[in-house]
Amino acid sequence: MTASPTSLVIIEPASTDLRQKVEGIMEVLAPKTFTGATVLVKPNMVGPSAPELGHTTHPELLQAVVRACLDRNAKVIVGDNPGGITRNSRNVAAATGILDASEGCFTSISERVVERIGIDTGYKLVISGSVLEADYIINLPVFKTHLGMIVTGALKNTYGYVAGACKARLHLQARSNEVFARAVCDVFQVRPPDLNIMDAITAIEGNGPCHGGQLRKVGKLLSSTDALALDAVMARMMGVDPGLLPVQEQARVRGLGALEESEIDVRGQFEVIPNFRMPVTFAPQPDRESADELKGLYPGGMMKGRVMSKPVYLEELCVKCGDCVVNCPAEALTLEPEFNISDECIACFCCVELCPEGALEVPDIEVFRHY
Ligand code: SF4
Ligand code: SF4
Repeated sequence: MTASPTSLVIIEPASTDLRQKVEGIMEVLAPKTFTGATVLVKPNMVGPSAPELGHTTHPELLQAVVRACLDRNAKVIVGDNPGGITRNSRNVAAATGILDASEGCFTSISERVVERIGIDTGYKLVISGSVLEADYIINLPVFKTHLGMIVTGALKNTYGYVAGACKARLHLQARSNEVFARAVCDVFQVRPPDLNIMDAITAIEGNGPCHGGQLRKVGKLLSSTDALALDAVMARMMGVDPGLLPVQEQARVRGLGALEESEIDVRGQFEVIPNFRMPVTFAPQPDRESADELKGLYPGGMMKGRVMSKPVYLEELCVKCGDCVVNCPAEALTLEPEFNISDECIACFCCVELCPEGALEVPDIEVFRHY
């Protein structure tokens, strides 16, 4: 006997009036009124990128959600912890258009923090206090790929609950993709969002989540109260089995939502995006010959537990800002006397993600081309 679907995912075309689309979604998935409750609207604010680059939640979507919440008598807070140790969240909000779009509700949530212990890893998690104080959280992830965790979806977007240097420390503690996926799920479990509305208006494919990826027009909003179900539908639209994704598989094991097709009721037009490109790192099991080849290229145990490779430096694009050095969890990067990545590199790709100039990328090694 087939089980009844447990989770609803709504797919809406986003070509016209976003406010109307958001209203339609919230009619079905959110309370009719918030009656003075505090609603945290949590966009993806990974870095100071202009909205047209697609790295961050589009400000028009954010504005539509904020207005819908204000109309429901909510006390709205808009906030996120950007990637990188030193990035100021207000500056990132200004650069991404989120500050202007937040209707005066933007708050720097990085400054007031509380500590929690990861339910599975036991790691110390430094979380923005606003996350735990909110009565209702609306998560606004972006439909995009990710070099480390393969996709950045609804589950991974809650990693932005983590403030300051703790993000980098968790990368260093985890070291492997499998353990880092468990840490991401620990953060999600601190406070699962109540509603997730995914910006799939313009997706990022290839070596996302930032400069290494390419824009891909999708023209949709995806929404659900179940973050895992939403990510599962996103993955299937990418043409990928969500059970192969580290964070989503870990969330399935923990029972954090629905992953199987039979468990999810998809309303709207589901389409697999033709030839959607996944990151070069999405190669779960390289064959023996390829693995040996990579071992030779990257000595020092870098192949252990995942497909690993040191980032490649594109000197002509580098402006010597030093962001990569400051944000490398393994302290493996140096700029002087010349650019170098030591064998301490844990292949987390934080530097690729955070370089504002796209001067670091993952090498295009043939063995990675499985998808
Ligand atoms: S590689 Fe990127 S982050 Fe590093 S110094 Fe150059 S421009 Fe800055
Ligand atoms: S050099 Fe880059 S990929 Fe390697 S550990 Fe540092 S931030 Fe991560």
